Amino acid sequence: MNFLSEEQQFWRDTVDRVMQEEITCGYVRQCDMDRAYPYEAYDKVAKLGWLRLLIPEAQGGDGGTIFDYALMCEGLARYGFDFATAFMVSTFTAMNIVKFGTEEQQQRFLPAFMRGDVRFSISISEPSAGSDAANTRTRAEQRDAGWAITGQKLWCSGAAATNTTIAMLVRTDRQAAKHKGLTVLLVPNDTPGLDIRRLPTMARRATGTTEIFADGAVVPQANVLGEPGDGWRIITDHLELERIAVSAAYVGNAQQAVSDALKYAHERIQFDKKIYEFQVIRHMLADMQTAVDAARLMVYRAADMASRGMHCQREVSMAKLMASETLQTVTRNGMQILGGHSMLPEADMERYFREGMQSTIGGGTSQIQRTLIAKAMSL
Ligand SMILES: Cc1cc2nc3c(=O)[nH]c(=O)nc-3n(C[C@H](O)[C@H](O)[C@H](O)COP(=O)(O)OP(=O)(O)OC[C@H]3O[C@@H](n4cnc5c(N)ncnc54)[C@H](O)[C@@H]3O)c2cc1C
Repeated sequence: MNFLSEEQQFWRDTVDRVMQEEITCGYVRQCDMDRAYPYEAYDKVAKLGWLRLLIPEAQGGDGGTIFDYALMCEGLARYGFDFATAFMVSTFTAMNIVKFGTEEQQQRFLPAFMRGDVRFSISISEPSAGSDAANTRTRAEQRDAGWAITGQKLWCSGAAATNTTIAMLVRTDRQAAKHKGLTVLLVPNDTPGLDIRRLPTMARRATGTTEIFADGAVVPQANVLGEPGDGWRIITDHLELERIAVSAAYVGNAQQAVSDALKYAHERIQFDKKIYEFQVIRHMLADMQTAVDAARLMVYRAADMASRGMHCQREVSMAKLMASETLQTVTRNGMQILGGHSMLPEADMERYFREGMQSTIGGGTSQIQRTLIAKAMSL
């Protein structure tokens, strides 16, 4: 059964075709091997107009739905979740500017974002603020010239790429309760007083994730997103979009892992048989595809509900949990099916596996998703 309309199917096929023929798996692999940001592909996607997809028509965008966006993320992540991250982290902040930005901020940032001239990244995490994301210690103090930031942020993906503005969660009122007194500042990554260092992580090698040291870096008042003290509400506002997008991307990557394993099982001969003829391998592949199909359906359900404006926190957490765990499981089994060959970058599976390991941690861990689901079940 196909749940997509003809238009949606066409859109998904279009993204797939561009990835396969114009961007290519080899390019995505090379970016990972070189730990190089995918600038050329980012420009290509911007030129295709795809960065406009979610931006409302009134602001020069295409006014697409979260479902349309999920289909794009599924396709972009086909050859690796990390690759799709470059586009996704940018879009989440653009959408926060659509919702909370002043008219001046919208004019300054949105057209440049849609052209691909300005990127965004999101900086919530800190050494002491992981799952407990509001435990923000980085502080910003108001001065004549604007807000002066001091502290350390961690794991900010994409922050080292050129022309990137960081949506940074900082504490601006130390007397206020934990989730209050937080503010989002739009901080260009070339602001003096910022030291941004790429981290040698196992996953996210191309988009790159960073630690950021701020030592009195100043941004003007015009770079406060929304109201001071409203930071927690603003930075968590895009969580529904973020979790649906990353879940769709996990599914896209997981599907490719299954397809690669299936292809290899047809090619590899041992004991005079193609290895798919061994029942144990056939069953592994059947389980893998079943899990991917189930995850895809859960992601589409959440994306459909969100597109209709329905309350869907439970469904979104279920999709994130299921899709990330599925990516991790099918890539581990993919490694087993490809045998020794799986260890080489050219086989791609080791990259998918590394990214699968990150998927149950980033964007809210599996444990946190289960806690959210349990809460929605009134537990
Ligand atoms: C490659 C990468 C890229 C990232 N990109 C970004 C980014 O762009 N921007 C950003 O702000 N952050 C980013 N992150 C940070 C990411 O969001 C955090 O790693 C994640 O929220 C978990 O925090 P933590 O790693 O500190 O783990 P912790 O919160 O310390 O958790 C450690 C373990 O304890 C468990 N645990 C913690 N609290 C609970 C609880 N209440 N109940 C049950 N179990 C619990 C966790 O599930 C986990 O298993 C990135 C991380 C990675 C690895």
